[in-house]
Amino acid sequence: MNNLWAPWRGEYINAKKDGACFLCDAPQKRSSEELKTELVLFKGAVTSVIMNKFPYNSGHLLISPVRHIAKIEELTPEESIDLFRILRHTTAAITMAFNPEGFNIGINLGRAAGAGIEEHMHMHVVPRWNGDSNFMPLLTEVKVIPEHLQETFEKLKPFFERI
Ligand SMILES: [Zn+2]
Repeated sequence: MNNLWAPWRGEYINAKKDGACFLCDAPQKRSSEELKTELVLFKGAVTSVIMNKFPYNSGHLLISPVRHIAKIEELTPEESIDLFRILRHTTAAITMAFNPEGFNIGINLGRAAGAGIEEHMHMHVVPRWNGDSNFMPLLTEVKVIPEHLQETFEKLKPFFERI
């Protein structure tokens, strides 16, 4: 059980009740205040980075193409390269901000695989620490307080301003 990564069992992400796609909508916000509320760390031309509102650990981020696509094979070559470019920046940023001992990085494709938003593909980046798996079920059941998320946002944001 020590290496259990809960996202594979079904993810909880910032889904909207009205059926709108938050991975499309959140990066569209204009003001830095709105972007902060939506936890958007980076909005590039082809790739976005958003914090998960239901994190498995501090610094659980979602990287997604700007385009609303469901499948990896729908990524253009440019989007594929950019996704990994941003992944490199993301793991570096989390390492500088939180100094984790490991990472889980993965994509749930389709409802059967546990995807929370199956219409818009996204990559989970979850920092890990030795012994943190005991802590995680607690985080998923008790809704993480917004202050905690905003604090994490402030810590990570400067690293994404240099991309
Ligand atoms: Zn979308």
